[in-house]
Amino acid sequence: MVSPDTRFEFAVVGGGLFGAAAARHLALAGHRVVLLAPMEPLVRDTHDGVFASHYDEARITRVLDSDPLWARLAHASIDRYAEIEVTSGVSFHHGGGFLALREADGELLSSTARVGEAEGVEFESLDAGQLADRFPFLATSPGQAGLLEATPAGYVNPRALVRAQIEGARAAGVFVAAQTVLQITETPDGVDLLANTGSRYLADRALLATGAYTNELLVRPLDLEVQGRMVLFAALTPELRRSLLTMPGIIHEPASGPTTYLLPPVSYDDGETYVKIGVDEWDRPLRTSEEIGAWFRSGSDEAEAAVARDALVGLIPALAGQPMHTETCAYTMTASGYPYIGMVNDRIGVVVGGNGRGAKSSDEIGRLGAVALLGGSGDERLRPRIAG
Ligand SMILES: Cc1cc2nc3c(=O)[nH]c(=O)nc-3n(C[C@H](O)[C@H](O)[C@H](O)COP(=O)(O)OP(=O)(O)OC[C@H]3O[C@@H](n4cnc5c(N)ncnc54)[C@H](O)[C@@H]3O)c2cc1C
Repeated sequence: MVSPDTRFEFAVVGGGLFGAAAARHLALAGHRVVLLAPMEPLVRDTHDGVFASHYDEARITRVLDSDPLWARLAHASIDRYAEIEVTSGVSFHHGGGFLALREADGELLSSTARVGEAEGVEFESLDAGQLADRFPFLATSPGQAGLLEATPAGYVNPRALVRAQIEGARAAGVFVAAQTVLQITETPDGVDLLANTGSRYLADRALLATGAYTNELLVRPLDLEVQGRMVLFAALTPELRRSLLTMPGIIHEPASGPTTYLLPPVSYDDGETYVKIGVDEWDRPLRTSEEIGAWFRSGSDEAEAAVARDALVGLIPALAGQPMHTETCAYTMTASGYPYIGMVNDRIGVVVGGNGRGAKSSDEIGRLGAVALLGGSGDERLRPRIAG
C-alpha cells in the first residue's frame, strides 16, 4: 500500500554511478527524492536479480579524449571529485596520470591533443624514446607516441564512488531503498513504482538510471545495445609492484590489433594487487535480462581472455607467467555514442548509456539527468533516441 511516506517529488530508479549522482543533485536542489538502489550481490554465481557495470575497484579517469563532449563531461566531474570526497567522507579518487598510447602519425593523437588543449588540461607529448625512458616496463614500438595527462587523471574506485554519492544523497535528504523496481505505471498525477518487495512508491516524475536493464522498464525502448565485456587481472609479486609504481592508466590503440585499456596496480579485497586489462571492442550483444544475468554469472570467455592475455603480455612482458583470472561486465551502448539524458515522456526521464566510459564522468552525467527531470533543456547530442 502507498502511505504518505512513499510519496515523493522524484524517484530515481537505479543507484549506480549515474543514478546515485542524479539523486544527490536533485536533493541538493531542495527536492524530496527516493532512490531505489539494489545492492551489489554478495555471491554472483547464484544471483538472479539485476547486475551493474560498476562492480570493480578501478576505472580510468581522464579528460584527454578525441571527443570534445566526452572530455567536457569528464572535466566537469573531475573538478568535483574532491568536494564529493569531503562531503561524503568516502575516498574514491587516485591520481597517477593517464597515457594515451597511439600511432605517432595518426589523426587520433592530434585530435586528442587538440581537445586537451581546448580543455586546458595539463599533459605532455612523448615520442617513442621518451616513452621508453619514462616507462621502461612498456614494450612500445618505434612508431608509437603518447600523450601523458597529469594527476588528477588516474583512476576512480567505482564502488567507492557509488558509496560516496549515496552517502552524499542521504545527507542531502534522499530516502534510499535497496529495492528493485519491477514495474512503472503512469497515473494521472504521477508515476507508480512497484518494487520487488511489494512496496509501492509514488512520484511526480521518475528518472531511470538502470544501465543495462533500462529497456525492460520502458514501454517504448531506447535505441541502445547491451554488450558483454570481460576484464583480465594479472596478480603482481612485490617486485612487479615496485617496478610498475609509475604506471599510469593506459589506453592503447595500436596500428593493428584490438584497442585495450589498462589499470595500474590496484589492491583488492583478497589481499592481492593486480594490473587489469580490458579489450574495448568485442561483439557480444546481450538481448534480454536473462542473457545479461547469464553473462555476469559466467565470469569468462576463453577466446576474449586469450586476446586480453596476449595484449597484456605484449605491452608489459614482465607479466608473462603471472597468475591471471577474469571477470565479466557489460557496456550499455547508445546509437549516438553519448549517454542518453532527457525525458522520454512527460513523467519519465532517463540517464543511461555509459558506452564503456561513463564512470569518470558520472557526476556530471547524473547532474544533467537531474536538470532534465527538473524540466531543463540539455545538449541536443545527449537527447534519448527511441528504437525503430
Ligand atoms: C569492464 C568495464 C570497464 C570500464 N572501464 C571504464 C573506465 O576505465 N573508465 C570509465 O570512465 N568508465 C568505464 N566503464 C564504464 C562505467 O563503468 C559505466 O559507464 C558506468 O558504470 C555506467 O553507470 P550507470 O549508472 O549507467 O550503470 P550501472 O553502474 O550499471 O548502474 C545501474 C544501476 O541500476 C540498477 N538497476 C538496474 N535495474 C534496476 C531496477 N529494475 N530497479 C532498480 N535498480 C535497477 C543496478 O542495480 C545498478 O546499480 C567500464 C565499464 C565496464 C563494464
